[in-house]
Amino acid sequence: MKGKIVQWMDEKGFGFIQPDDGSEKVFFHVSSVKTDARRPQVGDSVFYESMLDSQKRKKAKSVVIDGVRKDSSSSARSRSIRVEPPKKDAVDFVSYLVISVSILATGFEFYRTGSVEKSWFFSVPAVIAFLVINRQKKPKDKTFHCSRCRKISEHDSRTIKAWNNGFVKLYCSACHFQWLKDNPNQDKQSMQSQGRGCLGVLVLLTVVPILGCMGLYQWLA
Ligand SMILES: [Zn+2]
Repeated sequence: MKGKIVQWMDEKGFGFIQPDDGSEKVFFHVSSVKTDARRPQVGDSVFYESMLDSQKRKKAKSVVIDGVRKDSSSSARSRSIRVEPPKKDAVDFVSYLVISVSILATGFEFYRTGSVEKSWFFSVPAVIAFLVINRQKKPKDKTFHCSRCRKISEHDSRTIKAWNNGFVKLYCSACHFQWLKDNPNQDKQSMQSQGRGCLGVLVLLTVVPILGCMGLYQWLA
């Protein structure tokens, strides 16, 4: 069937198609739109299949917007749903510098004075900088395309946390719960591996400069 979109509520994700044969307007939902290059608009010519819903009302499915590429090419798809990972900014780089200098100073001071009391406070800036690096950043866009159902969803604390942890595939709440149901053990596992990764970085940041200091001390002495 062919028709024209005469009504479209973008926020609600549904609208109506006026069929070209002059028959009654047909309801359609965004989930039945096959074109994912862009959202439907009033005035779009569309091809669709007509069906009856559970209440025997006419409903359009397999809606394709005419003139817009059907878009099965992965480049256009990934462009439309791509989520940019958090970017390191100047604050992060300064923090890394502070951590390095602070740990070096602590190690150096400890080997110079041989006393923890006289050297521990040199590591305070490192701890602060570490917290600064791990602060939560806000995504540029308030919304994202769900990687599973591709619906536009608003960020919540869960997706912002995931995004901060470097996940660029985000799921809307409905898909997330579905995914949890399908993979009951996955959530725990991913939490654990994240914890390990974080600890690994911390150990690396601490151990490497201290070993460096010990080497330097040995060499000087
Ligand atoms: Zn979804």
